Amino acid sequence: MIKSPRGTRDLLPPDTALWNFVEGAVRDVFRAYNFHEIRTPIFESTELFARGVGEETDIVAKEMFTWEDRGRAESDKGQSLTLRPENTAGVVRAYIEHKLWDRGLNKLFYIGPQFRRERPQKGRYRQFYQIGAEVIGPATAGSESPARDAEILELLATLLDRVGITGWTLELNSVGCPADRAQFNEALRKALEPVAAKMCADCQRRVVTNPLRVFDCKVPEDQPIIETLPRISQFLDEGCRKHFDEVQEILKAVGVPFVLNDRLVRGLDYYTRTAFEFTHGALGAQNAILGGGRYDGLSEALGGPAAPGIGFAIGEDRLVMSLPQSAESAIRKPDIYIAPLGAGMNREAARLARELRRHGLVVDLGDESFRLKKSFEAADKAGARYILIVGENEVKADAFALKHLASGEQVTVPRGELAARIAKSS
Ligand code: AMP
Repeated sequence: MIKSPRGTRDLLPPDTALWNFVEGAVRDVFRAYNFHEIRTPIFESTELFARGVGEETDIVAKEMFTWEDRGRAESDKGQSLTLRPENTAGVVRAYIEHKLWDRGLNKLFYIGPQFRRERPQKGRYRQFYQIGAEVIGPATAGSESPARDAEILELLATLLDRVGITGWTLELNSVGCPADRAQFNEALRKALEPVAAKMCADCQRRVVTNPLRVFDCKVPEDQPIIETLPRISQFLDEGCRKHFDEVQEILKAVGVPFVLNDRLVRGLDYYTRTAFEFTHGALGAQNAILGGGRYDGLSEALGGPAAPGIGFAIGEDRLVMSLPQSAESAIRKPDIYIAPLGAGMNREAARLARELRRHGLVVDLGDESFRLKKSFEAADKAGARYILIVGENEVKADAFALKHLASGEQVTVPRGELAARIAKSS
């Protein structure tokens, strides 16, 4: 048997109804904040991620699905391509390529699959889905303002609220600007020098390449050492400190709760200032439901103009896993199952189904070859509320036997009254 590749999965009904519910709610929220959708390619040139995400990140160093193009055209030959592991780099590439600042497009959202070759486990897949947004633009458009950071965070609180997720925690930090980080890295390197040999292999590599990444370490034995290290909060310059204070003040003013976490450094190189994560207890080990932050230098790193930005990516797989039971009401079952009974009745049943569907009802349809018992079983299996029998006598009378499956109550209803009758009952 051929199975889906490791780390990928089929999303099946009825779960897909939950995914559609989430995406519908999310689109409504984005509309209210004047965000517009962008769809970028699922693969990009590898260089985009090397530059935009950072060579030293786990994503680029270990997790990308990369191949060399075998295109015949000279220009394609040997080009290295990669399935996108995240979407911010693609959005910023598009921002630069299409000069989106000229069109005043500075609030963009996306929904789509991302790919990372990670060790699969519950809540961690090799093809997973992200819902994300970016605010990016020239500083003159206010994209640098702490008001944007706070607006993004408040949008996220609204969004989680809208899909019914409670019990989340917003963890907030500032990772400062590159100058702060240079000093911080230096201090970290010094602090790590005498203890690095006692740490895991990944940390030993990080100490040399990018000590900040030590804070990403999840190995329990390393945690006591990490607890003693200096924190970025001690190295923020005046501008970054003020920016961070203002973000917090606006959040307090709008009533979005948060906790400060000065270990939160995020996995990607281009982050500056505000960094955040929303976690959810119900998720277990992979408890981050979304992450994001500011990336003021990214556009320039990709060869574009100065364009400060802030964004986030929600793990849609994890968002769906955290939905409350009540979200299951988004799974719509058929209102009615139409059971044609006897030769020639498929045509009549099809006519009726067409009429009822035009009234917005969800209709499932059987076949005239089914015996009545089989039709009842099929209606039950489909979870239909009603079954409607369409036999020769009913057609002649132009009135149909309508049976409520849960109560067993049966009535005869004239054709013209069917839709209203089904729609108003539950
Ligand atoms: P990141 O792009 O790493 O900041 O991730 C943003 C969010 O995407 C995380 O908080 C997760 O919810 C989700 N995510 C990242 N990697 C995976 C994965 N391999 N499988 C499922 N969700 C993921």
